[in-house]
Amino acid sequence: MARFRLYPTGEQVRQMLLHCAHARYVWNLAVEQHAHWKPGRGSAPGFAEQCRQLTEARRANEWLAAGNADVQQQALRDFGTAKSARFTSGFGEPTWRKKFMHEGFRVIGTDRVPEYHADGSVKLNAKTGRQVMGRSVVVRKLNRRWAQVKVPGCGWVRFRLSADGKGAKLPDAKTFRVTFRNGQWHAAFAVVPQPTPAPGTGEIIGIDRGVTITAALSDGRKLNCPQLTTRERAQIRKHQRRAARAPKGSEAKAAGYAKVAKLKAREANRRKDWCEKTSTLLAKSYDLIRFEKLNIRNMTRSAKGSVERPGRNVAQKAGLNRGILAQGWGLLRQRTGHKAPGRVEDIPAPYTSLRCSACGWIDKNSRKSQAEFVCSSCGFTCNADTNAASNVAAGQGGIPRPRRTAGAGGVTTATSRSSTREPQPTWVGIPLF
Ligand SMILES: [Zn+2]
Repeated sequence: MARFRLYPTGEQVRQMLLHCAHARYVWNLAVEQHAHWKPGRGSAPGFAEQCRQLTEARRANEWLAAGNADVQQQALRDFGTAKSARFTSGFGEPTWRKKFMHEGFRVIGTDRVPEYHADGSVKLNAKTGRQVMGRSVVVRKLNRRWAQVKVPGCGWVRFRLSADGKGAKLPDAKTFRVTFRNGQWHAAFAVVPQPTPAPGTGEIIGIDRGVTITAALSDGRKLNCPQLTTRERAQIRKHQRRAARAPKGSEAKAAGYAKVAKLKAREANRRKDWCEKTSTLLAKSYDLIRFEKLNIRNMTRSAKGSVERPGRNVAQKAGLNRGILAQGWGLLRQRTGHKAPGRVEDIPAPYTSLRCSACGWIDKNSRKSQAEFVCSSCGFTCNADTNAASNVAAGQGGIPRPRRTAGAGGVTTATSRSSTREPQPTWVGIPLF
């Protein structure tokens, strides 16, 4: 995905907002249509049927007919993609799009380019035997910093080329999505990133993700995801407070919340930028990248409980959840996977933070504090996060503890491992002959 900030003129903004409205209208119609479906009612209409219905709707509705047919059809295409990915995308069933909240539309390229197979041979139509022509987005470079893209009904819209170190490159894509959020327009081109070649040094890196240090590497480096500054956080609280006290429906209330949203968007932008840069760094400098396996969704589950059985420390847990989600753990893993396909591993790692990376001894007393690790068996001293990262790099956490069986009665109890025992050979990695 290549995302650029658009700088439309006033006239273009009016036209693009209209596109947003049409796309949202069509999307919501599709949501409504599919919500109506129940088992035994026959299948809900697919993309082809929806397109036929769209043509009819355009005949009946003057407002819809005045809009761009491609933009409206692409909204249906987006809906189809979202619907078929509902079990894997993490977003679930496609839901309603709201005005001012989910503003955006997709543009399909108007240029026609010949398509080729992966091996370079010409792609031919199975029926007619003619060359298959694909779509391509029309983009033009203006200078080193600026380029423009064709948007239906708007002509050329300028966007700023963000440099990626090697100099800005024009995106080459079939479609792109225009979004309007927090007063900014962006264009996201559907580009599959080129895999970064491995350095070929055979180096393995382990990464331990935490809240205090976002990513501790096994070579001792500590990478931190930028957060909002204290001043910015204070500003958020100020605007939230003012907005909350402003009268309902007033202009001051809306303005206050808009300012909060803008600051939060700034935080998200910083996080995304950091994830992109860090994942590129990892993919470029190491042959094998090992992350500890985390289930972030389970980790950030709310402590709220239910009405009958309310949870405890709900606010603290919510704060920790915010802290976890602000680190961009999931995005870092995802983007590294995109850039280094086949070179990223998830290591199931219980006890990585308690295991000594030198001798393998697991003891909760070894972890003296958040940052300090002193092995209670061999005396190995290290930063706790670096120690955990070394365990991940070695591909192991703790060895699952064997359950001890109580003699008579056959009751199996899981007792905690004694800290006073000497490290057993298997824990230390000495093979038993
Ligand atoms: Zn040790």
